[in-house]
Amino acid sequence: MIASADAVVVGSGAFGASAAYHLARRGARVALLERGHLASQTSPRAAGLTSQIRATPSLTKLARRAVVKLAAFADETSQPLRFTQSGALKIARTDRDGEQLGREIARGRAAGIEIDWVTIAEARRRLPILGERGIVAITWSPTDCNVEPSELPLGYCRAAEKLGAVLLPHTPAIGFEIGPGGVEGVRTPHGTIATRVVVDAAGAWSRIVAGRLGGALPVVPTRHQLLITEPIAGVGPEFPIARVIDANVYVRHERGGLMLGGYEPDPMQVDVGALPESFETADLPLDIEVLRRLAGSVSEQFPIFQDPAIRIAEHRGGLPTLTTDDRYLVGPLPGVPGAWVMSGCCVGGLSASPALGEAMAQWILDGAPALDLSEISTARFAGRELDEAELRERCRRAYATHYRSDPD
Ligand SMILES: Cc1cc2nc3c(=O)[nH]c(=O)nc-3n(C[C@H](O)[C@H](O)[C@H](O)COP(=O)(O)OP(=O)(O)OC[C@H]3O[C@@H](n4cnc5c(N)ncnc54)[C@H](O)[C@@H]3O)c2cc1C
Repeated sequence: MIASADAVVVGSGAFGASAAYHLARRGARVALLERGHLASQTSPRAAGLTSQIRATPSLTKLARRAVVKLAAFADETSQPLRFTQSGALKIARTDRDGEQLGREIARGRAAGIEIDWVTIAEARRRLPILGERGIVAITWSPTDCNVEPSELPLGYCRAAEKLGAVLLPHTPAIGFEIGPGGVEGVRTPHGTIATRVVVDAAGAWSRIVAGRLGGALPVVPTRHQLLITEPIAGVGPEFPIARVIDANVYVRHERGGLMLGGYEPDPMQVDVGALPESFETADLPLDIEVLRRLAGSVSEQFPIFQDPAIRIAEHRGGLPTLTTDDRYLVGPLPGVPGAWVMSGCCVGGLSASPALGEAMAQWILDGAPALDLSEISTARFAGRELDEAELRERCRRAYATHYRSDPD
């Protein structure tokens, strides 16, 4: 154990590992606490997709910065990362979603991201498993990519360690010392670490950690699942990511087979605080019927998933944290000087983590991030607490309309 640190990061998933690395790279003495094995909870279970064109110009800039950093990750950190720039197709099946794609093209081009309409024939040339029926419009964005999710947070952990960060797996933050000026220390079962800065990057547990710090976080851990099939003849890594907007379904290549995941209208929301202390993401009950229904909802576009010969090789799920506006939740924890938050990943935290960790380090050390994070700052919810039922319902709605940039 160490006695003191410039910053203590709680949680070694994509958010915490990236924050620890970027803080250490700036010369801060960092301790990274993890209650279980390093990077073992939701992050390694992600699909690993990027999506650069977001609801606003600032969020698009953030997502673009993240892709630039993912592409340079191995060079920057000297850690391995399987990075595949497969590009992405986005499919509209309604006129309304076609109009959304038109706005996304405008937003992407304004941000310097390559994106254009493609015909169904052109899309099928890139993704031969795509069916022709029920499609109104498709866009093609060649710079979107996917990464191996388990490698990203582990790589940041190892790179942070090389820069002097102290990694403390199996060491939960169990309490905090808070003085008149704010954070003074972090209590663990092995002793207290004196520090003026704590970053709550505890994922599904971030609300509990914030509560122990004396703050409140309006996030709801929400189950998200995907499946990966056994290898299928003709399916390869050159296949782009494909997303169907109204069905909230994504498909991509993985290990010679196909990955399918998506956002059901009534997801399981989990109160981690009500579960036994020993709960881990691996204990989360999964439900393959959710994915069968999602696959059924895109049977015209992806008839391959209806083929009885297709076998499922892997079914996994985790607990991303949702916010009411489907946007990240980062910045100072209101009311607790020295406490910072990286939460509200909204099922997009893995891919954004390189840019968010970088920006958090700037915010903590320089007083402001280089990118404009006001749209995802903790300040937007400060003093506007919702009762639990309303919070859950709004987070459910945000999840169920994830691919709509202008939900009802
Ligand atoms: C099936 C699936 C598909 C997904 N697909 C994508 C995708 O394509 N693209 C994308 O960007 N994102 C995707 N995501 C979302 C992505 O996985 C999350 O956004 C990301 O992993 C969030 O990282 P995190 O660090 O917040 O959480 P976690 O990885 O869960 O890390 C939090 C860590 O904090 C630790 N912790 C908790 N409490 C304490 C404590 N008191 N003390 C110490 N440590 C503590 C936990 O043990 C855990 O290791 C997907 C998620 C799932 C489940």
